[in-house]
Amino acid sequence: MQERLQKILSQAGIASRRESETIITSGRVAVNGTVVTELGTKADPETDTITVDGKPIAVEEKRVYLLLYKPVGYMTTMKDPEGRPIVTDLLKEVKERVYPVGRLDYNTEGLLLLTNDGAFANMLMHPSHEVDKGYLVRVSGHVSTVQIKKLSEGVKLEDGMTAPAKVAQVSESENNAWISITIHEGRYRQVRRMCEAVGLNVVRLKRARYDFLEIGEMKPGEFRELTSEEVTKLK
Ligand code: URA
Repeated sequence: MQERLQKILSQAGIASRRESETIITSGRVAVNGTVVTELGTKADPETDTITVDGKPIAVEEKRVYLLLYKPVGYMTTMKDPEGRPIVTDLLKEVKERVYPVGRLDYNTEGLLLLTNDGAFANMLMHPSHEVDKGYLVRVSGHVSTVQIKKLSEGVKLEDGMTAPAKVAQVSESENNAWISITIHEGRYRQVRRMCEAVGLNVVRLKRARYDFLEIGEMKPGEFRELTSEEVTKLK
C-alpha cells in the first residue's frame, strides 16, 4: 500500500513524523535508488526499497491471524523430512510467512490458528494460558458411561494424570459413536492417548473449538482471517 514517506519512516522507528520530514528534506532518503526530498511523496514499503543514508529501513510485516480448517493428511510443521504436505501449502495466496499456533496430528482435522505474530503465538502456547479446546471424537463400537466418567475425571497417562475434562456422548450408530471432549491441557496426542487409556479406538478426531472460536460450517482446507475483535479477545 502506498503511504507518505514520513509515515513509513516513523512507523519503521527511524524518527518521529516531524523529524522524518527533516530527514527527507535534507536529502537523506532514497526510494529505489532515487533521492526524494519532496514531502508528501508516496511509496510502498512492501515493494519499494527505501533507504536512509544508504541503509534500507526495516519494514514491519503486516500482522496476520488466520483460522484454518486443517484437513487430515497435513503436517503442522514448516517442513516435513518425508515430503508430506504441510498446512502452509493450503495458504498459497497468503504473502506473509505464518506459523501454526501449536500442533494437530497428521491424522487430526479441524481448527488451527496460524500467525506471523510471534509474541501472540507464544502467549497462546504458554502452559499458563489455559483455554478450552473442544474435540469431536469418533470411536468404533460403543461408549459406556464408565468410560465417559473415567475420561471426565482424568486418566493416568505415561506423563501423569490428565486434568478433569468435559466429556459427553454426542451420537451413536450401530458401529460407532461420537463423543465430545473438552480439555485445556495440550499434551502430545492427548485426546488419542486418553481414549486409548479407557479402551476406546479413535477413528476420527476433529478440533471443533478453540476458546470461543468455532470451526462451524467451514470445510477442510478453508481458512479465514480473524477479526481484530477476535484477536483482542484471545489476548
Ligand atoms: N489430541 C490428539 O490426540 N491429537 C491432536 O492432534 C490434538 C489433540
